[in-house]
Amino acid sequence: MKLLKQAIMEKGRVLSNDVLKVDAFLNHQIDPELMQEIGKEFTERFKDEGISKILTIESSGIAPAMMAGLYLGVPVVFARKRKSLTLVDGLFTAKVHSFTKKETNEISVSSEYLLAGDVVLIIDDFLANGQAARGLVDIVKQANATLAGVGNVIEKGFQAGGDLLREQGIRVESLAIIDSLENNQITFREE
Ligand code: 5GP
Repeated sequence: MKLLKQAIMEKGRVLSNDVLKVDAFLNHQIDPELMQEIGKEFTERFKDEGISKILTIESSGIAPAMMAGLYLGVPVVFARKRKSLTLVDGLFTAKVHSFTKKETNEISVSSEYLLAGDVVLIIDDFLANGQAARGLVDIVKQANATLAGVGNVIEKGFQAGGDLLREQGIRVESLAIIDSLENNQITFREE
């Protein structure tokens, strides 16, 4: 996706050989117009899958997921990372180790919002080692819902997550795939 790659080149900062900072438009400040285009792009790619719900994880997945939900015309559910006082009964849970924060969270989704008949599209900001996606896939399974695929704004193709999911036969769509961040250079995979 050209607009996204432009934003990454102009506003992204390489923090190390494996971490890209995109706080300027995705992870801290959010660019609504870019999110709108991202939502349209996910919709274009998944519009024929009969999706009934989008599942993401707080907090940085919410903005792109919201826009995809808007254009697909379906609700967006986000997995919570912390226990909520109001979220007590009927929970689907999974353990997720965070690549950037180096901590393990138990993520949870209320069974009220993820039903056996649902066709679910998982959306997240980054796909790195696939831990977040794995946890969300697990939650979709617990709900006996159908998984349509996993959509990522940015996939780091040099980390294992993409292969891990694709090997399981899961459809993975990433709007920008980065093959390397070495020597402070962002190298995109050719589409
Ligand atoms: P995974 O679970 O695939 O290893 O990592 C995905 C999660 O870690 C994403 O939800 C994202 O929040 C965070 N993440 C992974 N790699 C990066 C990165 O290079 N930059 C940023 N900003 N977040 C990342």
